[in-house]
Amino acid sequence: MDEKTKAAPVYRPGRVLFSEREISVRVRELAETIAAETRGGGLLVVGILNGAAIFLSDLARCMPLELDVQIDFMSISSYGSAAQTSGTVRVLKDLGGDIAGRDVLVVEDIIDTGLTLSYLLDMLKTRRPASLRTCVLLDKSARREVAVKVDYRGFTIPDAFVIGYGLDWAGKWRHLPDIRAAEPWAG
Ligand code: 5GP
Repeated sequence: MDEKTKAAPVYRPGRVLFSEREISVRVRELAETIAAETRGGGLLVVGILNGAAIFLSDLARCMPLELDVQIDFMSISSYGSAAQTSGTVRVLKDLGGDIAGRDVLVVEDIIDTGLTLSYLLDMLKTRRPASLRTCVLLDKSARREVAVKVDYRGFTIPDAFVIGYGLDWAGKWRHLPDIRAAEPWAG
């Protein structure tokens, strides 16, 4: 079989990197830290679809009443291949309201090269929020290509493709309660 006709690799869930329990403990810690470092007046928590949906819903539910949280989502698509983002982002679904003067927390599933988040933050800054912070569950810090301010991070991970807890491969495995290494599968 030549390179052109070779089937694309198939991945399935492999080794557990972070268990459901480990994730839940860390998510609660993150929510407590964010709450302690947020002044009153309301926090707008912005999740980036689809990957951050599960993380955001757990994180937000650990946030205390006094934080006066509102939730919104953006959906973006990144130009480039599945394995390598280009950093040019197209907004598929924008925020429902204006963020001018608001304290905004952007919640993302994973940061890799940093190109996607960097582009998104530059775009959101032009809307003049009072503050703009970032919370990422997973950070592949060794692969960073552009500097991005990550205010809150769940776990730093090595360079491996991971799935579960919102993260997919080909649209699958987001529903897994734990985070796993994606394992090549011969079928
Ligand atoms: P960056 O622009 O930082 O290189 O890429 C960030 C995006 O790439 C994430 O939002 C996610 O969609 C995707 N991504 C990067 N690494 C992984 C990974 O290990 N697993 C999954 N499922 N997606 C990843």
